[in-house]
Amino acid sequence: MRIPVNKPSITELEISYVTDAVTTGWGDHCYDYINRFTETLKNFFGVKYAWPTSSCHGALHTVLMALGIGLGDEVIVPDVTWIGSVSPVCWLGAKPVFADVLQDTWCINPASVEKKITPKTKAIIIVHLYGSVCDMDAILAISKKYNIPVIEDAAEAVGAEYHGKRVGSIGDFGVFSFHGTKTFTTGEGGAIISNRDDLAEKISTISNQGRKPEQHIMFWVDELGLKYKMSNLDAALGVAQFERFDELFSKKREIFGWYKDALSDLPDIAMNVEPEGTKNLYWMPSIIFGDSYSFNRDTLIKGMNAEGIGIRPFFYPVSMFPMFESAKDNVVSWSLYKRGINLPSYHDMTRDEITIVCNALRKNIDYTKSY
Ligand SMILES: *Cc1c(COP(=O)(O)O)cnc(C)c1O
Repeated sequence: MRIPVNKPSITELEISYVTDAVTTGWGDHCYDYINRFTETLKNFFGVKYAWPTSSCHGALHTVLMALGIGLGDEVIVPDVTWIGSVSPVCWLGAKPVFADVLQDTWCINPASVEKKITPKTKAIIIVHLYGSVCDMDAILAISKKYNIPVIEDAAEAVGAEYHGKRVGSIGDFGVFSFHGTKTFTTGEGGAIISNRDDLAEKISTISNQGRKPEQHIMFWVDELGLKYKMSNLDAALGVAQFERFDELFSKKREIFGWYKDALSDLPDIAMNVEPEGTKNLYWMPSIIFGDSYSFNRDTLIKGMNAEGIGIRPFFYPVSMFPMFESAKDNVVSWSLYKRGINLPSYHDMTRDEITIVCNALRKNIDYTKSY
């Protein structure tokens, strides 16, 4: 691809930290960067606890297990997200219950969440989709009313804000991904953050293969746990990426602004929104085309790819996949994917490259001129 959809920003800083970790980070120093990254995350999000993990999937699996979720329980999830937000629920024997998303932010619809609560509901997972921010006040009100914990999947929204607070730090737990396609990367990686004192030891125990933090008998296991730890090498990359937070965050916002400008004359489209009091990361600048466009999404993507431009389709509703019962009552979730695409937005993109993408897009959309 001449213009890939995403790639990380790697500078001398990342290379020097990773080189240091691979050269010296062994033996007594094998946790140095992990400890540093843990502190970085705690300070960055203003939370008491942080656990770097090997993926967001692992982070979520750990949190759900710490909450005691298992067979017969239900967990509410948004119908539009990546499967990583959902599969850990299933692996614990619980049932994901799909709530619809909002037409404008593409994030979970609080009214739909409330409608899907049953006596079996044990947690609500919300997803700050494509860097957009969920309606946290409404979600927290529901959480309080029914006494159900909220897990924020902020894999796509590191640094995005809701009324001055960084997302992930607002609910009971926040989980993140630092996969190579995300805005801040450790290659593969993730994290859990929380302020909940009552479950901190539980999370530490589970993430350490069931060995309690105070357990000093070597190789003694107290309970069944999991192993999704981040490596010291990955943590070195993470420390460097977060030192460059301001630069990387503002570049994503600048790129979205360029698209917004370049496409402002295109009628009947919706792009990422930033409701009052929120700050969007714009992980994936995206377009939802209105009904006046007659194109086929896949043809459009193929046409763009043929020109060396990496366009991605909007997420399918998760409940459409064969292992789930279709939640077709989620009408917004079941309509967005047909008309939605993600545009390239890697950090090094120039304004000229944005122009190339937008020109190719105009050429490839065959919209009816009937509006
Ligand atoms: C990328 C992503 C995940 C999965 O992250 P991994 O680190 O690959 O496990 C989960 N949820 C959302 C919303 C994502 O975008």
